[in-house]
Amino acid sequence: MERIGVLTSGGDAPGMNPAIRAIVRKAIYHGLEVIGIQRGYSGLINGEFREMNLSSVADIIYRGGTILRTARSERFRTPQGRQAAAEKLRGTGIEGLVVIGGDGSFRGAKVLSDEHGINFIGVPGTIDNDIPCTDYCIGFDTAVNNVVDAINKIRDTATSHERTYIVEVMGRNSGHIALQAGLAGGAESILVPEMTTDLDDVIEKLLRGHQRGKLHSIIVVAEGAASGLEIGRLIKEKTGFDTKVTILGHIQRGGMPTAFDRTIASRMGAMAVDLLMEGKNRRMIGVVSGELKDFDIDYALSQEKTIDRSIYELASILAI
Ligand code: ADP
Repeated sequence: MERIGVLTSGGDAPGMNPAIRAIVRKAIYHGLEVIGIQRGYSGLINGEFREMNLSSVADIIYRGGTILRTARSERFRTPQGRQAAAEKLRGTGIEGLVVIGGDGSFRGAKVLSDEHGINFIGVPGTIDNDIPCTDYCIGFDTAVNNVVDAINKIRDTATSHERTYIVEVMGRNSGHIALQAGLAGGAESILVPEMTTDLDDVIEKLLRGHQRGKLHSIIVVAEGAASGLEIGRLIKEKTGFDTKVTILGHIQRGGMPTAFDRTIASRMGAMAVDLLMEGKNRRMIGVVSGELKDFDIDYALSQEKTIDRSIYELASILAI
């Protein structure tokens, strides 16, 4: 193997840059050439390639987002689009591709491999942490810290004004951010898409707290579980409490990657190069109980990533 390619695809995640840095430097260390593909599969189809050297990845370890840019590509979902992508890869002499992205990006890489025999390794990068076979995806820890930071700030106002705050966080199909940030932020209740929460229970808990003198509360709602605005309206209507809603939105996925994200990104990026050099293909890297492992992509994509119910239960007990 002489030349590999790297791209970031789907939603951006803090820590993608340290992953790119690790891939480029580890590959160059072993004498490989690295081509950076801009704007995910869209740039792959359009041939937006640039040769990476040691200084192309200088000074990026602490930056959020991705220097390669990211995109979603409808054309890549078509056989014609993937044909064009495969031709571009072959024409540039890229023998192995590292795809940093979410499960959608992995599905795309898998089809490209099925149809055109392109070798690839997937590195999980998504703040949603919704990829099976890995405890952590790159960007999740930073996103959770961003949410906890916001909750800390909201808590100051919630306490001072004796208010109930609904904090809506990202997670259309998964409640990982809500759960982890809710536990770390001391939320009274956490609503996640994977579990049905009876709003009456949430309200009863608020009223119980109120009776024993607790005058402020934080409720974390994953966007896929319910609309924060609607929950806020219903709680206000049913309790009469001063209730405000904050939708955190895109501030959750920005900013400097945490040390944890930089570490797993560096380790996963380096491992992706090792796997390609060993001739491995169609593998996804995961971190399981602190150890890096690789999984067959068909197996990984057939699995379901579940939330840790014990966190949900613990958060509920601690918010008694
Ligand atoms: P993420 O990787 O963050 O889950 P998306 O689901 O948007 O993000 O996927 C990123 C891109 O991967 C899509 O824009 C599309 O080009 C490609 N992709 C996703 N799913 C498939 C699929 N089933 N077949 C082919 N390409 C896909």
